[in-house]
Amino acid sequence: MNVADNLLFLKRSLPGDVKLVAVSKMQPASVLKDAYLAGQRIFGENKVQELVCKQPQLPLDIQWHFIGHLQTNKVKYIGSFISLIHSIDSLNLLKEVNKQASRHDRVIECLLQFHIAMEETKFGLNLEEAKELLESDRYLAMKNIKITGVMGMSSFSDDPDLVRREFAVLRNYFLTLKSLYFGNCDTFKEISMGMTGDYTIAIEEGSTMVRIGTAIFGERNH
Ligand SMILES: *Cc1c(COP(=O)(O)O)cnc(C)c1O
Repeated sequence: MNVADNLLFLKRSLPGDVKLVAVSKMQPASVLKDAYLAGQRIFGENKVQELVCKQPQLPLDIQWHFIGHLQTNKVKYIGSFISLIHSIDSLNLLKEVNKQASRHDRVIECLLQFHIAMEETKFGLNLEEAKELLESDRYLAMKNIKITGVMGMSSFSDDPDLVRREFAVLRNYFLTLKSLYFGNCDTFKEISMGMTGDYTIAIEEGSTMVRIGTAIFGERNH
């Protein structure tokens, strides 16, 4: 199986309205080009340094998504081109994204990352923190970011019921925030959940955006 075949298989198995983010971390630019030539336009990376190295080597109509933990002091390197940041986990980070976006006269789309897994190490907000952020005057004054949904990662577990419950929690967070803060705003619409091992469950639980690496590019060499 090659990258083009894997993409074709995935495109056929995903519902038409679910977006596919090809997670290309640790893959060389040449491999991303193969995926691009097979029609893929959304790529997800989780390291700023790696992303800024690859981005100039690839076509300009790619939509780059940032999916990893983002340090505030690194936003400036991606502010000119990043199209969606999945991993907003503080008001401070959002403030910096807004600042860098405004320097480039852009609006950067952002997702609020929630902590839904059992593991302590995974980053993300809880519902109270998200509400606080969305009610803050600082957020309300931001003109160069747009929050378009939520993102989460399930526990690293082979228990499908646990994973399903976690995805259901994220969907409920999405619905709660939508009704409280985005009621008449169609742009708040994304639930980014599901990776190679759990994307079918994620879709059953309402995912609108899956982030898939291994099933497209094969195992990563660490
Ligand atoms: C690596 C990664 C993925 C993709 O994982 P696969 O199991 O290779 O599909 C998805 N989301 C995030 C945040 C990641 O870091």
